[in-house]
Parts: sequence; structure tokens; C-alpha cells
Amino acid sequence: MSCDFSLGHYRELLEAAQAGGYRFAGFDTPPEPGVLILRHDVDLSLDAAVRMAEVEADVGAWSTWFLMTRSVFYNLDSKEGEAAIARLRELGGRVAHHAVWPQVDLDERFDPVVAWHNPDPEYMTAPVEGAVNVMTAPWFDPATYRSDSNQRWRHGCPHDELAQGAFPWLQLLTHPEIWAYDGATMGETMRAFLAADGEARLELLRADRIDLS
Ligand SMILES: [Zn+2]
Ligand SMILES: [Zn+2]
Repeated sequence: MSCDFSLGHYRELLEAAQAGGYRFAGFDTPPEPGVLILRHDVDLSLDAAVRMAEVEADVGAWSTWFLMTRSVFYNLDSKEGEAAIARLRELGGRVAHHAVWPQVDLDERFDPVVAWHNPDPEYMTAPVEGAVNVMTAPWFDPATYRSDSNQRWRHGCPHDELAQGAFPWLQLLTHPEIWAYDGATMGETMRAFLAADGEARLELLRADRIDLS
């Protein structure tokens, strides 16, 4: 099995967790032994999030999607944004808030759960009024946390440990864009994302009756 960052290997990772006896959970209750809390910070692409959610639904997994209200890459208030929220929920996911410090825009679209985007240490682990901060106890413990940030696992791809049931429980943070677009490095993957996003925006221009001749 090759530990690449692809939707194919994401599926294998989920199946490894199921083989290891893990069950899926969210941030509404404290983590119990044997749970896998799948967390996705959606920084760039709702389309990547929906494609990843389809893989999860296909294998019987579900997760919590952290969506931004202040992204420069997507607009949750657009038709596409509303459709993505509806689809993520329809596929069994939960929708929470990926907030940009110091703004918390929790409204009826979101479960009361917050993950800060690129947090500084000063506020990363501070409580958020009226919501769960995913980087606070009992949901966060460095020993039971793994992240794919910048397309690098600091402790290796966790699929083997999941298959062996080696984690008492785990919060696993992944970024859909890394898995939905091809590239051996973060730089390559980001360029693949930008190329696809450019094509998608050309379609939006056409739909907006812009003459592209
Ligand atoms: Zn792997
Ligand atoms: Zn982020």
C-alpha cells in the first residue's frame, strides 16, 4: 500500500480504522476509548470537501467539516456554498466553523464547534464562549492527535497504527485539498488545485454570461 495523499489512500486509511475496530465520533461528546474523530479543515475548496465526503459515505464513515466564513478562496453564502453544506450534511457529516481569529461567526449553519485557522499559540488552546474549541481537552491530546498539515505526517501515515488499534482514540485532522488533488509535494498539489479551480471559475464566468471569445 502506498501512503500517497489521494482519495484512494484516504479510503484505505478509513478501512484500516474500521479493521482496527474504531468507530466514528464528533465533538459533541468527550472522546471515548475506541473512537476516531475525523476532522477536516476546509481552507481552499468546497469541491474537494464534497468529493472526500463521498468517499467517507461510501465506506460508512462520517466526519466533522470545518468551513470558513472568511475564506478568500470560497464563499459559503454563494449558491455553491449552500449546496456544499447541504451535500456534506446529506452524506452524514457534521458542519462546524473554521474561524479566523478573532472572529467567531457561529450561526445556524454550524454546530457549536470551532477550529481556528492557522492559530497562534496564544489563543490556540483558549476556551471559546458557547462552543467547543477542538484544540482543548478532552478532545485534544498530542498523543492522540495526527495532522496532514502541508502534506507531511509528523509521525508517519497513521493507517498501520489504526489497523492495529494502537491509538486509544484519535483526532485525525486532514485537509481535503491535499487528498483531492494530485501532487507529490504540497507545492505540486496546490498548483493542481489552482489549475482545477481556474477551470471551474471559467465555467462560472460562462454561466455569468461573460463573453470569453
Ligand atoms: Zn498510509
Ligand atoms: Zn485552516
